[in-house]
Amino acid sequence: MPENTPLLSVRDLSKTYQAASGPVEAIGSITFDVRPGELVCIVGPSGCGKTTLLKCLAGLLAPTSGSVTLDGAEVREPPKKMALVFQEYGRSLYPWLTVRDNVALPLKARGVPKAERQALVERAVEEVGLGHAMTTYPWQLSGGMQQRVAIARAVAYQPEILVMDEPFAAVDAQTRADLEDLVRRVWKDLGVTVLFVTHDIDESVYLGERVLVLSSSPTFVQEDLTVDLPAERDQLTTRALPRFTELRTHVYEQIQRAKRGEAVAATP
Ligand code: ADP
Ligand code: MG
Repeated sequence: MPENTPLLSVRDLSKTYQAASGPVEAIGSITFDVRPGELVCIVGPSGCGKTTLLKCLAGLLAPTSGSVTLDGAEVREPPKKMALVFQEYGRSLYPWLTVRDNVALPLKARGVPKAERQALVERAVEEVGLGHAMTTYPWQLSGGMQQRVAIARAVAYQPEILVMDEPFAAVDAQTRADLEDLVRRVWKDLGVTVLFVTHDIDESVYLGERVLVLSSSPTFVQEDLTVDLPAERDQLTTRALPRFTELRTHVYEQIQRAKRGEAVAATP
């Protein structure tokens, strides 16, 4: 695929839920593209429709109107080329399976031959720093380690796009910092396209090469911001850069504007 053909294309996507109390317009209209190899963060306030958007992207929920295209094909069911990591790591792993078997499961389901499967599982588990924990069970691991297993499982599957929905919202600050660095490392080492959703402004700027700022519901893309921070990032140095502060302040202001229903301010 040529470099600038989008891998993921979202066009005029809207979603209105039919709740018992009446219609809830979660997403007004969202349009954006993700090119192969990008690391894009989507940031927006709680309740602005981030999970709704991801469910539409993942073919788990039909949009009310508009379309999602992955690699040239319209998404109507969960695409084989996409892997998802959710916030609730506790519910995403099977407690009766070891780390190795949890990671291997989707590969088994896809019919990957045993030798190849073992190699993929080992590489992915090593990549997330859990090579020593291959034969342990999820309940023997901390929350952060369980989320690493979920990431390893997604990575082993070799998706064209890795989609993550607030994956670190439930872990402590130190673990979260480590996991953020893990996502950037996986993105660089494996060349996978990443779409990372968070309500945390600092996290979106630290992680992303690009940040899509969402308005509150009915949601639209308030801004599409390029993060011009150095490619090599680390928690102390990067977050101390004046440019980091400028960008996070800008995103913060955009979200405040979006809440008040105002237009986009000039990019800093
Ligand atoms: P976020 O992930 O950004 O916190 P959600 O996508 O979960 O936001 O929710 C967006 C809006 O849609 C919220 O107002 C929420 O209450 C509403 N919503 C989400 N799921 C449903 C549903 N199944 N039925 C009705 N309303 C829903
Ligand atoms: Mg959500």
